[in-house]
Amino acid sequence: MSLKTLYIFLIAVTVIMGVSSLYHFSWWVSSSENSAILIKNTQAMSEKTWLIHGFSGQCIQKIDDLKVYAYMFHYVIPEKYVRKDNKIEYGNTISPEKLESILISLSKSRDAGKIKITSLSELADYRKNNCFPNKNIVLLTVDDGWDDGYNFLFPLAKKYDMKFNLTIIADKVSTTPSETHNFLNEREIQEMLDSGLITLASHSFSHIELHKQTEEVLRKELSLSKNALEKWFHITVNTIVYPSGKYDTFTVQKAKEYGYTFGFTTKNGIISKEDLDKNPLTLPRIRVNRDTDIAKTFLFEER
Ligand SMILES: [Zn+2]
Repeated sequence: MSLKTLYIFLIAVTVIMGVSSLYHFSWWVSSSENSAILIKNTQAMSEKTWLIHGFSGQCIQKIDDLKVYAYMFHYVIPEKYVRKDNKIEYGNTISPEKLESILISLSKSRDAGKIKITSLSELADYRKNNCFPNKNIVLLTVDDGWDDGYNFLFPLAKKYDMKFNLTIIADKVSTTPSETHNFLNEREIQEMLDSGLITLASHSFSHIELHKQTEEVLRKELSLSKNALEKWFHITVNTIVYPSGKYDTFTVQKAKEYGYTFGFTTKNGIISKEDLDKNPLTLPRIRVNRDTDIAKTFLFEER
C-alpha cells in the first residue's frame, strides 16, 4: 500500500467512525426522550430520582401515602347557554368562571408544590417505574368530547398552563366543522394536542354501556376506538373511560387484553396506591358540577 492510499484509507475510517458515533448519539438522545422517564439510583444517595421531559426531581419516599385525585368534568358552558330543561346537561355543567376559580385554586397548590398535575401518559410512566414526583397527583378528565372543550375549556387550560385529559367517543369525531355537530372535530382536537396540554382517552366507540356485552361488541367499543384515535392523531391511548360508568368483569378483562393501562369509572373517590397497583382498570373519580366546592375535596390542604 502506497503512502497516499494509506492516507486516504485513514481519512475514510475517521469519517465513517465520526458519522457512526453521531448516529448513535442522536439515537441515544431520541430514545431517552421517548422513554419519558428515566430512573437512576445514585450510589451516594440511594434515592430514586425522576427525569421527565427535561424536568427532574426526587421520587417520593413514602409511596403508600400516594393519592391520585381524578376530577371528572363534562360541560363547560356559560350559564346563559345552558339548557335548563336538559337535566343531564344542566347537572353536569359548570360555567367558565367556575372552571377558572377551580384552576386558580389548583395552580396555587401546584405552585406551592403540594400537587402535581399530570397527564394519563405521565401517570402510566410514574406507575411503571414506581416513582412519583409528588404524593398528591391530580388528573383533570373531561368526558364526552363536546366542542365547549375547545371553545371554553382550552383557553383556560392555556392561561393556567393546565393539563387536561379529554375522553373521546371515536364515532363522534368529525373531519369537518359543522354548526349542528356539537362534538369536537379533528382540527380542534389536533390543535389542542399540539399545545402539549391535552391528552386523549377513549370513551368507547359509540358511547353504549359496556356491561353485559358480547366479545364482538367490546372489540369494537374498546379496541377499535383505541386504534382509531391512535391512527388519526398519531398518539398512544392508554385509558378507557367507561360510558355512564358501566362495566363488568368481562369488560375489564377485555380492556386489559386490548392494551389499556387505566380504566375510569364514575365511582366517587380518591385513588390510592393500592388501587393503582391492584385495580388500575376500575379507578374512581371525583365528580365536579356547579355545586362542587373544590377546596373541600383537597385532602392536601390543611384546614
Ligand atoms: Zn360519557
